Amino acid sequence: MTPMVSIRPGPSAAHNALRCAALRGKPLLNLPAWALRTRRSIATNAAVQETPVEYPSYPPGVPSVSIAPRRSLEERKKAVKNAKPFSEFLTDTFNRQHDYLRISITERCNLRCLYCMPEEGVPLSPPAHLLTTPEIFYLSSLFVSQGVNKIRLTGGEPTVRRDIVPLMQSIGSLRSKGLRELALTTNGISLHRKLDSMVEAGLTGVNLSLDTLDPFQFQIMTRRKGFEAVMKSIDRVLEMKKLGANIKLKVNCVVMRGLNEREIIPFVELGREKDIEVRFIEYMPFGGNKWSQGKMISFQEMLDIIRTKYPDLRKVPGHKNDTSKTYEVPGFVGKVGFITSMTNDFCGTCNRLRITGDGNLKVCLHGNAEVSLRDLLRKDNGGEPIDQEAFERIRQIEMDRRDGRLSDQTVLGWGQREKELLQVIGAAVKRKAEKHADIGDLENMENRPMILIGG
Ligand code: SAM
Ligand code: SF4
Repeated sequence: MTPMVSIRPGPSAAHNALRCAALRGKPLLNLPAWALRTRRSIATNAAVQETPVEYPSYPPGVPSVSIAPRRSLEERKKAVKNAKPFSEFLTDTFNRQHDYLRISITERCNLRCLYCMPEEGVPLSPPAHLLTTPEIFYLSSLFVSQGVNKIRLTGGEPTVRRDIVPLMQSIGSLRSKGLRELALTTNGISLHRKLDSMVEAGLTGVNLSLDTLDPFQFQIMTRRKGFEAVMKSIDRVLEMKKLGANIKLKVNCVVMRGLNEREIIPFVELGREKDIEVRFIEYMPFGGNKWSQGKMISFQEMLDIIRTKYPDLRKVPGHKNDTSKTYEVPGFVGKVGFITSMTNDFCGTCNRLRITGDGNLKVCLHGNAEVSLRDLLRKDNGGEPIDQEAFERIRQIEMDRRDGRLSDQTVLGWGQREKELLQVIGAAVKRKAEKHADIGDLENMENRPMILIGG
C-alpha cells in the first residue's frame, strides 16, 4: 500500500532534497550531507512517509519563554480556529502588526563598502556590550511567542560570528513555535563554507549583497577583494535550490551614480537564465557615509535605464509587506526588484523591528529612537552578559520562587522580567512614527552607520 504523504508545515531543505531524490529515484548516497542528515524515511514511489523528527530543543540552560509546547495537528487546527488577535505589544498606533524581526548578530565585517561605513571604520562596542548567543535566542523566543514569524540575521557581516550555525540551529527550533522563515543578509564572502549546515539548521532565505559583476569594481566598492568567493556562494545557493533546497535567493545591489549604474542592465540580464531576484536599492544616508542626493539614482531613473533596452519590463503583483516593487522582463526566469526608501517609502505596510548588536530595539531603520533590551535582560545578572550558566542560575531562582522557597525580596525571576521586557517593547512600538522623515531631513538626521544598525 502507498504510504500517506505527510509533510510538516515549513518543510526543511533537507526534506525537500530527499523528496526530490525520491521523485527522481536518485540514490540517497549521492545526496549532500545536509540532506542525508534528515531523519525522514523515503519511499521511491514518490510518496514520503514521515518518521518523527526531533527538532533541536532549547540549548541547555536557556529559559523557555511562555510559549505553548508543540501540538498535534488537531490541536493546531483548533488553535488556528480560536486564534487570538495579534499581540498588542507588537501592534503600533497605526495598526501595523510587526511580525518580522531583524537581528544584528555582529558589528564586524570583512568588507568596507563605500555606502555603508566610513573608510576609517567605526568604533566597535566592547564585547561585553554585545548580545550573547543565549540572549539572542531568548529574545528571539520572546518575539516569536508574540507572533513574529520571520527572523532575519544580519550585521555587520553575520557569517563572521563564529557560532552562527549553532545560533541558527537554536533559532530554527522555533519553527515548532510559529517561526516560518529564518533568513540571512550576507555579503557572501564566506557563505559557501557554511551554507550546507545553515540550510540544515532551517535557513529559508538568503539576501546576498553584490553591487557589481566586475571584480575590479568590486574592490573599489567594497575596499576589499573577494568577488570570486561571492560568486561561489551564489552558485552554491543555486545548486542547492536545484537539489530541492527550499531557499529564496535575492541579490541586493545598491546603485550609486558614477560607480555602478552601468551595471544595471548586466544585473537584469543575470535573470535571463538564473532564478535570481536582483533588487536595486536606492542609496540611503546613514552616519558617516557621505551621502548626497547627486550620488543617488532614483527608482524612476533605474526604470528608465532598464526600459531603454527592455521596454517590456512589467510590474509583478506584490505581497502586502513587500519592501520592494517587483518587475519582470518577459521570457526571463529571474525577477527585478526595487527598494525605494528614498523616493517612494513603504512605511504604511512596515512590519519590521530591529535589534542591534548591542541589544537595542530600533522600530524604524531611518529613525534614531532606540531602547535597550539588553540592560533590562541583564538586570538579574548584575548587568553582566548572560551566558548559558547564568541563564541556568536565574532559571533556578525562578523555580525556587514558584515553589515558595524564596521570599519576594530576592531578585526578580524570568516571569516578571519577561513582562517588563514586553512592556518596554510595547511602549517603543507604540511610539513608532507613521512614516520616516523625507529625503531632505533624512540627510541631516543623526543615525548610526548602517553597519551598526543591521540592514
Ligand atoms: N553585511 C551584510 C550585507 O552586506 O549583506 C549585511 C549587513 S548590510 C548593512 C545590509 C544591507 O544594507 C546590504 O544589502 C547593504 O547593501 C545595505 N546597505 C548598506 N548601506 C546602505 C546604504 N547607504 N544605502 C542602501 N543600502 C545600504
Ligand atoms: Fe559589510 Fe555589509 Fe556594510 Fe558591506 S554592506 S560593509 S558587507 S556590513
